[in-house]
Amino acid sequence: MSKTQEILQEENQRLAQELKERAFELSVLYDITNCISYSLDYDSFLGILLSSLHKFLDYDICTSLITITQEKKSKMFIQIFNPVNQRLVDEVKTRTLKALNSLRLSPVDEKDIIIEFKGSVIAASDYVPAKFSFDVPLFSRNEAVGILSVVTTRDTPYSDNDVRLFYAIATQASATIERLQGVLAVEKSKMKVMVEGMSEGVVMFDEKGKLVVLNAAAEEALSCYRPGLNKDGLLGFFQELGLADPFEEPAAAQKKTQGLDLYLKEPFLRIIHAQASNIYDEKDKRLGVVVILRDVTKEREIDKMKTDFISLVSHELRTPLTAMKGATDNLLDEIAGQLSGIQKECLSIIKRNIERLVRLISDLLDVSRIEAGKIQLRKETIDIVIIINEVLMLLRQPAKDKDISLKSSIEEGLPKPEADSDKVTQVITNLVGNAIKFTPKGGEIKIAAQAAGDFLQVDVIDNGSGIPHNDLTKIFDKFYQVEGEQQKKGTGLGLPICKGIVEKHGGKIWAESELEKGSKFSFTLPLK
Ligand code: ADP
Repeated sequence: MSKTQEILQEENQRLAQELKERAFELSVLYDITNCISYSLDYDSFLGILLSSLHKFLDYDICTSLITITQEKKSKMFIQIFNPVNQRLVDEVKTRTLKALNSLRLSPVDEKDIIIEFKGSVIAASDYVPAKFSFDVPLFSRNEAVGILSVVTTRDTPYSDNDVRLFYAIATQASATIERLQGVLAVEKSKMKVMVEGMSEGVVMFDEKGKLVVLNAAAEEALSCYRPGLNKDGLLGFFQELGLADPFEEPAAAQKKTQGLDLYLKEPFLRIIHAQASNIYDEKDKRLGVVVILRDVTKEREIDKMKTDFISLVSHELRTPLTAMKGATDNLLDEIAGQLSGIQKECLSIIKRNIERLVRLISDLLDVSRIEAGKIQLRKETIDIVIIINEVLMLLRQPAKDKDISLKSSIEEGLPKPEADSDKVTQVITNLVGNAIKFTPKGGEIKIAAQAAGDFLQVDVIDNGSGIPHNDLTKIFDKFYQVEGEQQKKGTGLGLPICKGIVEKHGGKIWAESELEKGSKFSFTLPLK
């Protein structure tokens, strides 16, 4: 082979290799472009971008910092491929922010940046400084909105090809950001109009405690409640009420909602119910807290009228019923003359129904006392074991009548809470009474008591009919009964009374249940 032929062959091989590399780069670029142009949120877009870059670029840390103009916050994704030292990560963070701010008129504040981190860092002594790096700005509508940067601690510099491809990807990323910002702006303005027009007040804080929504209704209600309250003081105001706390530990805040009534005196008397809820994204990450303010003046007025009415009627009914019961007892004792068998039977039916009415009226009076906040507790140190045994004695016969086994399982040496012994007996009697009522013949009921942190917990467990999932929270409402034959015998007031008594003690009551398998009713009493 001649020298010229040799040179030509070598050149051919080089060109073929270059073509192969170019084709690979193009396919990567195509994949990235495809993925990022269809992503609908920043998180998935940045995730795809950072992990794809590694397909053709060798780096230790890759950072993307994007400022989301509409939300006035910024997001920094740091992806570490080869373990690096924390000092290097901090240097990269600072440098990226500095690079972005040098291109912007309004600088991004470090405290407004939410940082997401992937990868691992190594011990401080292993610090290896960055050898090569480059940053590419991302633009949207001629404004620098982000920086994409790669850093390596190795000795090989980035080639011209790497830089060219990196720029091409950054151009695609800029286009995607522009599109996403457009979509966000439209969505945000739609939401703004909707929230602004709501009759309920809406206040929202993000996960850093920054006020992000305050509509006109909320501003009006809050300024009437606390004249002079300004936007900067809002978070402190809600924290002081114990309502919204975006900084609360996630475990404590676990999807809990809290509500309380605010009494407004000016310009006229109003009751505004403030309900706070934590908001989470689909990955259960807390995004912030929202407080809804709703005018409940009418509802509370009607509730009060209802409670007053029930209380009045019950009082009025109690006196004649006591007289009727006395007279029936006298007749049954044959004070007024001898009775035939059928007369006795009729009078017994009358007596049983009078007793039922007396029970109903006493329940109604209990409920109205609880609702009016008039329930009084006579607290003393109580022994839950004694109370449980008393209830077991009392209900042994009704349980025996249905061939139901009634057992208790009580932890040794239980602490003794300060509570109203009669009221606690009423709660346990009610729960066990219900368990007997809703458990078929031959069933089992267990009462358990144990210490649970700062509380004493009592469980009443049965293997009866169970309660449908949708009814579980409603059974503690007044007059609520799950549909079915058995339920008609009760009043639907037992559980709301239990709830009132337990909450007055500072405890909680709840139910767990599975249909056809049984129910577990639990309540707690504070030990401190
Ligand atoms: P009542 O028992 O008088 O109807 P409650 O307020 O005590 O009223 O209970 C409300 C409803 O909750 C009952 O009607 C019943 O549907 C349901 N319930 C309560 N306890 C149980 C239980 N242990 N098993 C199944 N359902 C129950």
